[in-house]
Amino acid sequence: MNINHDIEKILVSEEEINKRCKELAKVISEEYDGKMPVLICPLKGAVSFFAHLCEQITIPMVYDFIKASSYEGTSSTGIVNISYMPTTKLENRHVIIVEDIIDTGRTLSAVVEELKKQNPASIELACLLDKPSMRKVSIEAKYVGFVIPNEFVVGFGLDYNEEYRNLPYVGVLKPAVYSK
Ligand code: 5GP
Ligand code: MG
Repeated sequence: MNINHDIEKILVSEEEINKRCKELAKVISEEYDGKMPVLICPLKGAVSFFAHLCEQITIPMVYDFIKASSYEGTSSTGIVNISYMPTTKLENRHVIIVEDIIDTGRTLSAVVEELKKQNPASIELACLLDKPSMRKVSIEAKYVGFVIPNEFVVGFGLDYNEEYRNLPYVGVLKPAVYSK
């Protein structure tokens, strides 16, 4: 059993991810110098990107977590449930939410609204992957790793039925995997 054999094609390689994490971390380190930002990781999908990005940030910062799940209802609105909130007090802090992927934008938009209630000094978004063609609500990340087409991807934190998060790259599954 080797999970790499379930991958049809690699969309973003390990090398490309590492290089982009370094580039984004450099920009964030410059733009947030002296601001002691709070980086927030939505669980679980963003864990790999979050860890890689934070390791490359060279300024003082703190990090925390949030857990939000979106449920597609019968209507087009979608409901987002937040089951874990950051314990860091966010009032007057500079917050960066570091997400794995922005698809419809609903999850992140609900997370932003929830965190805004604490009156942070600023909130910006970073995402490893962006699928702009899928957007249902207007939300854009300031720091984007890669823009990808509308394909279901796994790896580097992203799952299919909770599996494949541990792949070190982002890829597309073989069709046979879905019929297992
Ligand atoms: P949104 O609210 O933007 O539609 O949903 C974003 C969430 O949906 C992501 O955090 C992720 O958990 C999931 N998601 C969206 N697109 C993909 C994808 O291509 N692959 C995987 N594994 N999850 C996805
Ligand atoms: Mg997610």
